[in-house]
Amino acid sequence: MTDAHRKVLVLDRRPHLGGNVHDHAHPSGIRIHTYGPHYFRTNDDELWAFVNRFSRFYKYEAVLKSWVDGRYENWPIAGSYIRRVIGDNWSPDFKGKPGNFEEASLSMMPREVYEKFVKGYSQKQWGVPPGKLSSNLAKRFDVREDDEPRLMRHKHQGLPENGYSDFMQQMLKGIPVILNCDFLKQRSSFGSSNLIVYTGPIDEFFDYDLGKLKYRGQQRTHEYVPDIEFALPCGQVNNPDHGNGPHIRTLEWKHMMPAKYAGQLRGTVLTREITVTPSEPNDYEYPFPDDENARLYQAYRMRANTMPNLLICGRLGEYRYYDMDQAIARAQLLANRIVAQSSLLCD
Ligand SMILES: Cc1cc2nc3c(=O)[nH]c(=O)nc-3n(C[C@H](O)[C@H](O)[C@H](O)COP(=O)(O)OP(=O)(O)OC[C@H]3O[C@@H](n4cnc5c(N)ncnc54)[C@H](O)[C@@H]3O)c2cc1C
Repeated sequence: MTDAHRKVLVLDRRPHLGGNVHDHAHPSGIRIHTYGPHYFRTNDDELWAFVNRFSRFYKYEAVLKSWVDGRYENWPIAGSYIRRVIGDNWSPDFKGKPGNFEEASLSMMPREVYEKFVKGYSQKQWGVPPGKLSSNLAKRFDVREDDEPRLMRHKHQGLPENGYSDFMQQMLKGIPVILNCDFLKQRSSFGSSNLIVYTGPIDEFFDYDLGKLKYRGQQRTHEYVPDIEFALPCGQVNNPDHGNGPHIRTLEWKHMMPAKYAGQLRGTVLTREITVTPSEPNDYEYPFPDDENARLYQAYRMRANTMPNLLICGRLGEYRYYDMDQAIARAQLLANRIVAQSSLLCD
């Protein structure tokens, strides 16, 4: 919008910029992503050029493991696991059109593998049996014939050289920002002729008057281990087995640091995440992927669409599991649309 010479004011009710991509430094110098691990990836050259305007990115292609049967196994499930554990008997358990997440997962793998890698993880993440979740969720992972260790195969993958907080600061350079400012508590002071782009929870915007949408969030506990270089084989280890503790995954941030810090940082920081249903909107992280919430969202959306000078968007505003590249692409599309209809703007 500012590229198109529009006057923009950014408000955030949190004490920092950048929403859930915010990061910060641990006293050891190790960078922690405050709201969980954020791996930037895109296949789009233009979008990659856009983010590189605000920071250099160093190459980081996330590698994940799952702790299964007392071993670190590749996640997504690798060909070597299939050959070693299942052999020629590999056969998906479900045939036909999947009606929910469990069936969609079972259409990719035998039940035995599903129960070890997917079922417990999904129950921890969403707090309900996987049969109650949307089948679309299974599109977020694959099962591999090869041993490709990277989580994603996108053309561009990396992390901003000085962290996401610096990246966001560069992006907002020259744009006025007011932090600790809750728009919903002061909406009357912003005037009805300004275009409002609201990126908070859509149900909160309407004071929940049609009912509350469900969200999931994470509680994080950090542990500094001073005397070792690394504790885990990679930056993220999933913990699908309930018997091995309630946490869903453990992060070891040092794996994600730029190569120039190799051997320079003492100790390591481990973060364990436990997924919860948050009551405070500031703690909402994931929209809930089921039909009931999708219907409720649509009811709010129909109302939002009739309101002039208002655009409710983003991960919480559109109740969609956007990754960063998708959130940016969506924002660019909407911004271009607004600029094209410039009569809406009062500047
Ligand atoms: C645990 C986790 C891991 C993730 N990992 C990845 C990953 O690996 N790769 C990837 O690409 N994406 C990842 N994402 C997604 C990424 O965080 C989102 O794509 C991105 O944050 C979406 O940006 P947004 O602007 O839609 O919303 P948000 O980041 O949610 O920002 C919304 C902002 O609006 C503010 N706000 C809300 N209500 C109000 C109000 N009333 N007044 C003022 N301000 C308000 C909030 O404080 C917040 O700062 C992850 C997300 C989570 C939660």
